[in-house]
Amino acid sequence: MTVDEITADNITAADLAVEVRGVHKSFGSLDVLRGVDLLVRKGEVTAILGPSGSGKSTLLRTLNHLEKVDKGTIRIDGELIGYRRRGNKLHELRERDILKQRSRIGFVFQNFNLFPHLTVLENVVEAPVSAQGRDRAEVIAEAHALLERVGVGDKARDYPRQLSGGQQQRVAIARALALRPAVILFDEPTSALDPELVGEVLAVIKQLARDGATLVIVTHEVGFAREVADNAVFMDAGVVVEQGPPAQVIDNPRHERTRAFLSRVL
Ligand code: ADP
Ligand code: MG
Repeated sequence: MTVDEITADNITAADLAVEVRGVHKSFGSLDVLRGVDLLVRKGEVTAILGPSGSGKSTLLRTLNHLEKVDKGTIRIDGELIGYRRRGNKLHELRERDILKQRSRIGFVFQNFNLFPHLTVLENVVEAPVSAQGRDRAEVIAEAHALLERVGVGDKARDYPRQLSGGQQQRVAIARALALRPAVILFDEPTSALDPELVGEVLAVIKQLARDGATLVIVTHEVGFAREVADNAVFMDAGVVVEQGPPAQVIDNPRHERTRAFLSRVL
């Protein structure tokens, strides 16, 4: 389905949490994103599947301007990311404004990326206070509640290294939630975990989905994607090959490249 077809399907800009249009990104002579279009409705879960090297992480990183696009535009919650439009020209935002935009986008990384020198609680409290200027006492209270919600309420005073991988990743999810983000981006959130810890992290993500959060999840957990995603996106070689309901893309793919990929991972 193309963006135009999706747009025709009665989506207004106000329904969209994420709007990616014609995004290109190269590293030197390597064209990593070659014209990516992606629309994510508010409250929807999007699962991005695709082989290693297809540009999935790069795409997520462009969404919060960790990577600058060479061409195309990205909007989160209607706001142009990284740039300000003046007349016909786009001017890159100042670092301060980029950090402010980024603070409304949750990012959960494969390797947790918690701050090792901060306690679990401080990890969750840091950004809402420093990047969003919120009241510290209020954020601390909310952080305790979020840690409870992801099942690590008793770990608030611990340091990340004292936690299992699954617990660390749940802290990372609480940290993302504390931003009250428009969308949470997950980059293979379970692929660094021992197999017995995968389930507890997927369970937390499932609960967020049920609670109506807007999530974009790069994952190789095809069963999970089928169960949780509203929209499945298959990427290969820097393009979206196909997207649609999981029942179509995962169970009945139209493209040979999708079928070949699924037969390798299923
Ligand atoms: P995926 O997440 O789908 O595995 P990535 O987006 O990480 O793919 O990478 C896509 C391609 O871009 C890979 O060939 C990778 O080596 C390359 N790449 C990613 N980031 C950089 C970078 N900062 N500099 C150079 N090449 C990069
Ligand atoms: Mg990746």
